[in-house]
Amino acid sequence: MDSSEEQTGGITYSTDSDKSSLVVISNGGELIINGGTFRCESGYAFTGYVAAVSTQGGTAQINGGTFYSNSSAVLSSDGGVTTVNGGNFYAPYGLYAKAGSNGAGEIIVSENSTAVVDAESFAMVIQRNDSGDGKITVKGGTFHAPKTVGGVGGPDTQAAISIDGGSYDSDPRSWVPDGTPVAQSAQSGTAGQYLVGENTVEETAADMAEGDILNVLCGDVKLTDVPDGVVIQNSGDGTVSFKGTEIPKDDSITVCNHVWGEWQSGNDGTHSRTCQKPGCTASETQQCSGGKATCTERAVCSVCNGQYGNLTAHTPTVIGAKDPTCAEEGYTGNTVCAFCGEILEEGKPVQKLTHNYKDGVCTVCGATDPDYVPFVPEIIQGADGTWQKGDSDGLSFTSNAAFEDFQKVLVDGKDVVVGSECDVTEGSTIVVLRAGYLETLSAGKHTLSVVSDTGTATTEFTVEELPITDDSQPPQTGYDSGLVLWAVVLFVSGGVFSAVTYMKKKQAD
Ligand SMILES: [Zn+2]
Ligand SMILES: [Zn+2]
Ligand SMILES: [Zn+2]
Ligand SMILES: [Zn+2]
Repeated sequence: MDSSEEQTGGITYSTDSDKSSLVVISNGGELIINGGTFRCESGYAFTGYVAAVSTQGGTAQINGGTFYSNSSAVLSSDGGVTTVNGGNFYAPYGLYAKAGSNGAGEIIVSENSTAVVDAESFAMVIQRNDSGDGKITVKGGTFHAPKTVGGVGGPDTQAAISIDGGSYDSDPRSWVPDGTPVAQSAQSGTAGQYLVGENTVEETAADMAEGDILNVLCGDVKLTDVPDGVVIQNSGDGTVSFKGTEIPKDDSITVCNHVWGEWQSGNDGTHSRTCQKPGCTASETQQCSGGKATCTERAVCSVCNGQYGNLTAHTPTVIGAKDPTCAEEGYTGNTVCAFCGEILEEGKPVQKLTHNYKDGVCTVCGATDPDYVPFVPEIIQGADGTWQKGDSDGLSFTSNAAFEDFQKVLVDGKDVVVGSECDVTEGSTIVVLRAGYLETLSAGKHTLSVVSDTGTATTEFTVEELPITDDSQPPQTGYDSGLVLWAVVLFVSGGVFSAVTYMKKKQAD
């Protein structure tokens, strides 16, 4: 074991016999090689018998070191498993796997392996014998060889070998599972390589330079880290993109890691920007966004500051509405925008109201009815009546005031007591001064007032004395019927009283 820091130790195996089946290290247990140089300079130059490191059963892990062989560099057989994480391998046959009574020998090249296999004939070989085929799984590493896979004894290499990572001089696609991307690189200063697996493709692309070509042969590849000037080609039928820009099948792009200028408004609801790198004509266009439109101003894009989109609708509200009165027309009001004040619809006049007069006053507006004749109560029956003392009937007056409005009766300005001095009945207002009351009045003219809520109806009436019945008195002058009557009465020698009564009745009629 070489435990020196540099691990420069090594083993050289050499023999004069070219038929010897020999190996530098023959491992059947657990072996780890971190470095050193292992050289197998001679022996039977057919692989499977000669190797720099041979594991028959047990495990070996190669993390580094340089391995030379005149046959195979790494051999796994009879159930042995060799994991290759690093190292440089120089041999006609790089990795060689075959089976034995303990099962298939297996070689695994790990995903992040830095192994470089430089093989003059085949990068890897599977041998078939009575026990079956060896097995090789490759997830990383670099393989330089005219042919990637070789077989001894007619193995089924497609079943025995799985390649889903690493780079190769020779097309490895026969051993790559479906769906795993494969690309081919054309780089100045290096031979073109087949790149297997997205990791290998991405890592190689990142190391390319202007003028290099990355040709994706199959599968999906999403690239982001590729230098300017690299040509990315999509020859397969997978989805290939660079920074989100898809490269259509059978098409290619020349990479520009754009340096974008400012967004410019297109004055059409979009904004665009162009790449500032010389020779690049790339541009991007987006829909404007952000900002807030009003009914007078369109939205201002938060990206390019250009106005875009439509004005919003106005906010209608009605102002200046007025109810009509009896004197003036009303108005429905104008419909205006509450935000900007624009008149959206002119209002219309509303017809004047008609006065609704009651008792000469409009109940709506309080105006006085010019045609109104106020009600003044008056005596409509019995005005200027005469009552003669001694008459047993009262004296009747009718006021046209409503009975319910009645207040009181005055004679010569003094109250007349209803129920004892007078009677008041409905129709409209009938006042009868009782005879007994009239007897208390002096002969002559008197004034009667019927006082109601709506006013006072006034008239005069006359109380007459009984006529003088003294026979000694000569008749009055004149030939009126009264005098004739007198004559008749005297003639029949009737009672004076009854004669007077008769005359009185005549008068009443
Ligand atoms: Zn550009
Ligand atoms: Zn914009
Ligand atoms: Zn508005
Ligand atoms: Zn009115």
